[in-house]
Amino acid sequence: MEDRYGREIDYMRISITDHCNLKCHYCMPDEIAFLSGQEMLTDEEIVCICRAAVKTGIRKFKITGGEPLVRLGCAELIGEIKRLPGVEQVTLTTNGVLLEEWLPLLLENGLDAVNVSLDTLCEDVYEKVTTKRELPAVLKGIHAAVEAGIPVKINCVLQKDVNDSEWESLIHLAKEQPVDVRFIEMMPIGYGKRCQSVSNIEVLERLRCCYPQMTLDTRIHGNGPAIYYRIPGYQGSIGFISAIHGKFCCHCNRIRLTARGELKPCLCYGDGIDLRKILQSSANVEQKLQDAMHRAVWQKPEAHCFETPEEITEFRKMIQIGG
Ligand code: SAM
Ligand code: SF4
Repeated sequence: MEDRYGREIDYMRISITDHCNLKCHYCMPDEIAFLSGQEMLTDEEIVCICRAAVKTGIRKFKITGGEPLVRLGCAELIGEIKRLPGVEQVTLTTNGVLLEEWLPLLLENGLDAVNVSLDTLCEDVYEKVTTKRELPAVLKGIHAAVEAGIPVKINCVLQKDVNDSEWESLIHLAKEQPVDVRFIEMMPIGYGKRCQSVSNIEVLERLRCCYPQMTLDTRIHGNGPAIYYRIPGYQGSIGFISAIHGKFCCHCNRIRLTARGELKPCLCYGDGIDLRKILQSSANVEQKLQDAMHRAVWQKPEAHCFETPEEITEFRKMIQIGG
């Protein structure tokens, strides 16, 4: 499905819960009013939305949250989406704490790839960022996914004076294992606004200094806007997702579904279409869903406005949107 600016929209991020087993301070530091079970879309509703989405040209789905693996039945839901005719890929973004436990069932249900969020390899810093001491569990989850042979990406958000000195130890993960390590610039959404972010330009410069033989990696690694580099001797690539210092909106291919059923054309703006209302209507639900998706894609703005924060109209926390 093409939007007004000629971008092909074929990718949907689905947040299946706003609950989480961690409390990353840039995402969910204080208790927020979590959705109740009744406020969240049911599995049947999510599958119904995906069925309509496929008919409008969405081919790839990313399951996110909150932490998607705390929702009971996450693996089976992935299986149901994967089995829909026309679906090419279903992948997962997780903090990795429960990954080892759920991996066999996720694989059985056809999970294609996993992104694991990991900002540090130091147990104390991990606790500072997430409030929990779960680093060993995350590393085990990553190892299990690599052993299982699915593509694994590690997503790191660097913050000044928190974990910015760790970029080098983090990229070593890509030397030791066939995983891509990606640096995501902090976005001024939710609590991210009050965090001191690190520019990817800075990280790339340091990387170039240490690894002058590094080359641009033009192979396709996934569905996102990351730019990748290869370091000789490394099994995985190093990626940069630079929403602030490398605005990639002209290549945006996605729409987002929140756990309560709102379809969001862009992360930066609060606008969305309430699909739950449509699901509760009595007739032509699938056609109405398809129409709503066309509307959302048509309403997709040309670009985010993170560089002028006063124009951002999304006031929810990242955990309520899905990242
Ligand atoms: N719980 C899962 C996880 O941590 O991967 C999925 C949801 S989480 C909201 C998705 C991603 O958003 C994580 O990689 C997290 O680091 C990132 N994130 C959260 N707040 C952010 C912000 N303000 N700017 C950039 N990335 C952010
Ligand atoms: Fe939870 Fe992921 Fe947000 Fe951390 S980034 S609080 S793991 S949803």
